[in-house]
Amino acid sequence: MRFNPRARLDTSRTSDLGGGGGLGGGGMRLPGGRAGGGIGSILLIVVVLAVGQCTGVGPSVNDVLGGSTGGLALDSQRLADPANTDRYAQCRTGEDANSSSDCARVAVENSLTEFWESQFDSGFQPAQRVVTFTGGVSTGGCGNASADVGPFYCPVDQTIYLDTTFFQNVLQQQLGGPAGPFVEPYVLAHEYGHHIQNLLGAMNQVRTQQGPKSDAVRLELQADCYAGMWARAAETVPNDDGEVLIEDLTEQDIREAIDAATAVGDDYIQHQTGGRVNPESWTHGSSEQRVRWFQTGYQSGSVQACDTWATDDL
Ligand SMILES: [Zn+2]
Repeated sequence: MRFNPRARLDTSRTSDLGGGGGLGGGGMRLPGGRAGGGIGSILLIVVVLAVGQCTGVGPSVNDVLGGSTGGLALDSQRLADPANTDRYAQCRTGEDANSSSDCARVAVENSLTEFWESQFDSGFQPAQRVVTFTGGVSTGGCGNASADVGPFYCPVDQTIYLDTTFFQNVLQQQLGGPAGPFVEPYVLAHEYGHHIQNLLGAMNQVRTQQGPKSDAVRLELQADCYAGMWARAAETVPNDDGEVLIEDLTEQDIREAIDAATAVGDDYIQHQTGGRVNPESWTHGSSEQRVRWFQTGYQSGSVQACDTWATDDL
């Protein structure tokens, strides 16, 4: 993947909270996953949250995030500006994105926002923010999350949360997933897909939380399909100035997305963690399903083709 060095970047929706982000100045710290202990608990959480928005779709998930405080009562926090480090202050152009993974994150967010805006006739609202953190985070309506939680989307504050150590510490080291420049963009695109589902009302359709044909799995596979839609169009998406943001997306990049989707399949995670493969506990879909729905979006470029709710052939 290569960004257009001339394209200007918009950092207005990308924030970094640093360590223990947003958890208050009083030194309140989450009980870290490390204290809870070891690979088992880390992976247990990943089973639930791997590359997933998983908040707001069920009480069990809210429990995992340490609270059951969903809902509109916290809506007033939505636009509150979080404390922000200067992590993204130097990200001005695609040239910066070519030399910095932080700036690449900004460029991908810009591309996702512009792509999805182009897909809506009207009424599009970008995801409010992409927020990075390490150590733990307090969301604007989805409770607290520790560092070991995978990336997720919080529908209440319409924000994507990302502990950037996830890719090396969990995806690569624990799950044997791929490294490479297009792994994180796939994950961001998946999470942005959850934002689109939030706008379109699909999140409200989730009734069943587990099982190979559960609503939760349908939601996750649709987000993978939406990620594929963006990947298909990524080389053509312009920024506000009309400059294309991503100049070059290679077959290797797509391969990385597919390998990442494989590594976060429920059956693969169950196998990797030494457990029995049990479809009845799936929440995100198997590796094969996740890859296939990503490819469905990539090949079709069609929201209609991504309707995982209309088929039993998941
Ligand atoms: Zn997800």
